[in-house]
Amino acid sequence: MAGGFELGLNELLSFEPGGGLIHFAGQRAVLMDPVALGLLRKELIDLVGMTAARGIFTRLGYAHGWRTAEALKTAVPWPDESVWRRAGGRLHTLQGQVRVERVERRPDEGPEPFAEAQWRDSYEAEQHLLHLGRADQPVCWSLTGFASGYMSYVNGKPIYGTELRCVGQGDAACHFVGRPAEEWSTECTEVLRFYETQCMEGVLAQVTDALKQAERKLRAKRQSLARAGVTEDPAGMVARSEAMLRVINLARRAAKVDSTVLVTGESGVGKERIARLIHDESTRAHKAFVAVNCAAVTESLLESELFGHARGAFTGATHDRAGLFEAAHGGTLFLDEVGEVPASMQAKLLRVLQEREVRRVGENTSRKVDVRVVAATNRELTEEVRLGRFRQDLYYRLRVIELKIPPLRERREDILPLARLLLAEASERLGRKVAALAPEAVDQLLRYDWPGNVRELGNAVERAVALCEGQRVEREDLPEEVRAAPPNLVPSGNPRRLEDMEKEYILAVLAQNGGNRARTAEQLDIGVATLYRKLKQYGHPEAAH
Ligand SMILES: [Zn+2]
Repeated sequence: MAGGFELGLNELLSFEPGGGLIHFAGQRAVLMDPVALGLLRKELIDLVGMTAARGIFTRLGYAHGWRTAEALKTAVPWPDESVWRRAGGRLHTLQGQVRVERVERRPDEGPEPFAEAQWRDSYEAEQHLLHLGRADQPVCWSLTGFASGYMSYVNGKPIYGTELRCVGQGDAACHFVGRPAEEWSTECTEVLRFYETQCMEGVLAQVTDALKQAERKLRAKRQSLARAGVTEDPAGMVARSEAMLRVINLARRAAKVDSTVLVTGESGVGKERIARLIHDESTRAHKAFVAVNCAAVTESLLESELFGHARGAFTGATHDRAGLFEAAHGGTLFLDEVGEVPASMQAKLLRVLQEREVRRVGENTSRKVDVRVVAATNRELTEEVRLGRFRQDLYYRLRVIELKIPPLRERREDILPLARLLLAEASERLGRKVAALAPEAVDQLLRYDWPGNVRELGNAVERAVALCEGQRVEREDLPEEVRAAPPNLVPSGNPRRLEDMEKEYILAVLAQNGGNRARTAEQLDIGVATLYRKLKQYGHPEAAH
């Protein structure tokens, strides 16, 4: 220190004889357990995320540094002001937070910044490693804030700092640099935002906004459903058919036990909705529901996606990463299209299901996971097993309980209630006021075979809502293939009048022929004049010209 002046704790700290009050530089101070601070840190990170927590700790340190500089100015008989200005590091060390050392600068490290220090034994890095493990960014947030706050006060202008290296991210020592706000280049605005008070306000405002929006959406959805006359099951399931009610009932019972469930059925029948129902009605409902489509992930990535990886396990693995099994810990993991899992992975998946522990790629130790697996496939797995493409032992492990969702064409009673629900959802999503289906549109929806199942129905309804000109979906708003579906000759509901059947049939054939009357008449084996007369009778626009 300049002029042989060495600041010591003796001058700064005072204790009341009987205990109770401790003063540091004339200000009340408290002794605080760093482990408790470490726990607070972890809770904050869990609650508001890494970025917001970093901002909070940075500003906590900043306030501390600022107030320390202010108190010290008059509490100590400084030989001159420059000593006070440079005493921040020493104070930091005296407070037991970190050992501040001078930086041994290498010539290749560029020009000297405004302020620079090497930090050892940072309590903050120690606590971060203890509670949260190695980070992928510097972690001495309150220390950085302290240094910045102290320097800002003594220099009378904002000095912002950051760590170039940090023990918390695996470096041998922490390396701090500080610069006046205006000297930070634009790519470092990243650093500055942690000092901005509106950072936290911004986060809170965002959260509040998101909550309000979610509530508004929910309210609007309920209203539009009520307008459409649809009462939705609490789990978001709509079913009227015997077959589907049976599936839902079985799913509810499966939810109560912790067994693995295999959901089968054609593409688009709503397997994920059933998986969600199982999760929502299980004791795991308050934990995560994690869904992954096994067919959408390349074979080489699937293992690390599911089980995680260690830093350096492969090119591009720049830090430790938990897999989806760990992410779903305590909750439910939904493995969609499990039939597409390659053979090499099937063995690993089976082992995880049996041992209830995962091993991250590149690690030698296993981690316990408590996950309920719901798998789904549109493949005939017994056939895949017979052909040697799917492991039999894995198949048995997955289908402890099997739920078979019938295709939509085999449960036609569900088409209309589903269409109404999807209509209400689509008009909400697209901001349209389409509330009903015209009777002709309903007829057409009921006639069509829906090879793409509920998903196809959803797409058709959404398209209709988007194209629809009035407040009601008309037959013309439906996709071509749906419009062209011929009438069922054996009616499923009340028998129809022959005249109505004839009209529907004629219009369907006309639609199939793209409105070509000559071809339609030929196919129906009637004269063009007869067809024309009938169309006129129906008030069909084709008869007008
Ligand atoms: Zn550090």
